[in-house]
Amino acid sequence: MKSDTTALKQGEANPLKNEDVEFLRKSAIDHGADEAVIIPASDVIVDPRVRFKCMIPKCYMSGGCAHCPPHGLSVREVKDLVAEYELGVFFRVKVDSKIIAAAGIHEAIEQGLADKKGNLMNLGGNYILVFTIIKVLEKYARQAGYGAYGFGAGNCKDPFCFLQPVCQRLVSSKGCRNPDLSAFSMESCGMDAYTMAARVGWDHYPIGGTCEPDTVPRGSLMGIVLVNRKKNEAV
Ligand code: SF4
Repeated sequence: MKSDTTALKQGEANPLKNEDVEFLRKSAIDHGADEAVIIPASDVIVDPRVRFKCMIPKCYMSGGCAHCPPHGLSVREVKDLVAEYELGVFFRVKVDSKIIAAAGIHEAIEQGLADKKGNLMNLGGNYILVFTIIKVLEKYARQAGYGAYGFGAGNCKDPFCFLQPVCQRLVSSKGCRNPDLSAFSMESCGMDAYTMAARVGWDHYPIGGTCEPDTVPRGSLMGIVLVNRKKNEAV
């Protein structure tokens, strides 16, 4: 990782350079994303209906994690935040439909029970990969003097606090157990990742609880890291 970061000049408040932006995009691929593109921050779609979908009907994690609705950032706050950035490194990690749409996996997730085939752990590993990529890109961008803020996919309790009874950040002044890895998801903040994926040409298949592996080619977990030319540690 150290050799990677040397490609970006450290510690300066730089204007955004094309080679640095491309380095961040390529870094997403190098660290495990299947695809990554640069989009203007103005192409980030923030729609209140996306955030409401976490609550109506209520997702099993709604209210159970500090990064999930109704906790977290309001749609207004997200729009104001996005407006502060110039571009986004938008990426996706593809997940085999035999894993993400495996029989019984949604019940296993909601009940917090690991399945014998290991699909739950495998899927959790893919979510952790998305969070890891955004944290790596944030670090690279900030080291180069840029502001950066990333959003992952899903909730952070399942991948990082699966064996814990509650989200520590919600109940204790100790705060988050995993502050260097956890983050808001795009969807929890109202970002319409499905439409954004379609606009950059990615085939994407919504996968619900009744979906069967043979009916979808794959699943996609998406994330985005917003970048601007000034340091911005506002959130
Ligand atoms: S990582 Fe754990 S403690 Fe931190 S916000 Fe997520 S659920 Fe809460």
